[in-house]
Amino acid sequence: DLSNAIVAQDEMGRPFIIVRDQGNKQRQHGLEAKKSHILAARSVASIIKTSLGPRGLDKILISPDGEITITNDGATILSQMELENEVAKLLVQLSKSQDDEIGDGTTGVVVLASALLDQALELIEKGIHPIKIANGFDEAAKVAIRKLEGSTDDVALNKSEFHEYLFKAAKTSLGSKIVSKTHDKFANMAVDAVTAVMDEERKDVQFDLIKLEGRVGGSLEESSLINGVIIDKDFSHPQMPKQVLPKEGETGVKVAILTCPFEPPKPKTKHKLDISSVEEYQKLQNYEQDKFKEMIQYVKDSGADVVICQWGFDDEANHLLLQNKLPAVRWVGGQELELIAIATEGRIVPRFQDLSKEKLGTCKRVYEVEFGTTRDRMLVVEQGATNSKTVTCFIRGSNKMIVDEAKRALHDSLCVVRNLVKDSRVVYGGGAAEVTMSIAVSEEADRQKGIDQYAFRAFAQALDTIPMTLAENSGLDPIETLTTLKSKQIKEHTSVFGVDCLGKGSNNMKELFVVDPFIGKKQQILLATQLCRMILKIDNVIISGKDAY
Ligand code: ADP
Repeated sequence: DLSNAIVAQDEMGRPFIIVRDQGNKQRQHGLEAKKSHILAARSVASIIKTSLGPRGLDKILISPDGEITITNDGATILSQMELENEVAKLLVQLSKSQDDEIGDGTTGVVVLASALLDQALELIEKGIHPIKIANGFDEAAKVAIRKLEGSTDDVALNKSEFHEYLFKAAKTSLGSKIVSKTHDKFANMAVDAVTAVMDEERKDVQFDLIKLEGRVGGSLEESSLINGVIIDKDFSHPQMPKQVLPKEGETGVKVAILTCPFEPPKPKTKHKLDISSVEEYQKLQNYEQDKFKEMIQYVKDSGADVVICQWGFDDEANHLLLQNKLPAVRWVGGQELELIAIATEGRIVPRFQDLSKEKLGTCKRVYEVEFGTTRDRMLVVEQGATNSKTVTCFIRGSNKMIVDEAKRALHDSLCVVRNLVKDSRVVYGGGAAEVTMSIAVSEEADRQKGIDQYAFRAFAQALDTIPMTLAENSGLDPIETLTTLKSKQIKEHTSVFGVDCLGKGSNNMKELFVVDPFIGKKQQILLATQLCRMILKIDNVIISGKDAY
């Protein structure tokens, strides 16, 4: 902002700029700045911490306009908190990047990052330079990740069990969520959805082929996976059939997907259209009628059974469609139109003249579903066996909050399954992987010379926070749990022992099938360490525009 800048000249005639009001800017610097950052991060983490794990608690968030969200998802909690502090905002972005890249582990990454910052604060107070700490943490993270990679199990080695494994991993991720009572149903939905759209050879999952749709009403158990696309629309005329099946002798329902409106083109006159007599009005009406008929003829000629249209049409056109036995849907959004095109392998047609048999989509049937007594309807475009896949996870629940949280939970477990399809290596959950890494890093600490050994030990302690928090949230003694796990892991040379959050009577996460994808865990370590370095490097916060008083 140069409005309060003045160009002046010094005694040698050299120009320089004076910027006024700099004194009004708030500044914090040096150690004080770092401490205040870390304290801010700590207060954010303390809110998030109690949500970690299967026994984690939910939060209720109330937006300024009174809308209520109930959630257990770290990224969602953080994104809705109105944080003033700049560093706290960085934590929000941290959980968002974990969410964008991996989709799960958004609570864990924040807990880990703030534990690292806590540890860093202690080292700073001991007089160690922040950059040295950051460097030490980087090295320690490398050791941790190497160990993590070494302790993975590849679950795709046994093809017949892979599916089962996906299911179990999906179930773990749902453990702490509102849907935990309907675990199996949601885990199955996640696995079926991902396997339906995945490209097995390329180990790729195109996420946009999976649509999440929710509707208030019914219960979570009534949620289902729909083979195809479901849209929040109904047929344009109440007398149209509620279900369209293939014509006799045909294998599928033919769908015309249109982006052109059923609307006559405006008569091409340069002048204003004045209608001064009944005849003229009649003429215009006839012109419109003819145009409608022409359009409908194009559709008929192509052989379509159903018309799906991006635009609306008026009663006149609607009536003609009904007369011509062409069930139609209007005002279908662009994104949905695309999904329908993918699902039915049809083309989106921009002009009636362009319609042809080849451009029509094909599906098994198109039908309306009605909900409860509300006469609330949606439309399903169901795919046949031969279609390329698009699936919709359709979630029911008794109120909007539950539906929304169930959607988020399902999204997380879809991500877990996708991650495993992409990289089938898993590590053990319940803090088991963190304990293994912590042991490795502290062993390595003894081999470090100089300052790094402090950083290594601190890093190991930060990793311990995860199993300790899980224990605490499950009503177990954190320190006792941690020491037991460590000694068990060391004695038996394995990384399967974690916190028995649900009180199943076993610490063996392999037996309990509590697994987390390796790439997710690795990303947590990388992102948390990176963020910590970033905050440690800040030594000046300049908040412009605010008065310092
Ligand atoms: P995030 O948002 O980070 O994924 P969650 O609340 O989903 O947080 O908790 C995930 C943590 O809980 C992971 O460390 C996972 O291993 C652990 N966990 C999940 N289910 C269980 C279980 N049944 N027993 C022990 N730990 C579990």
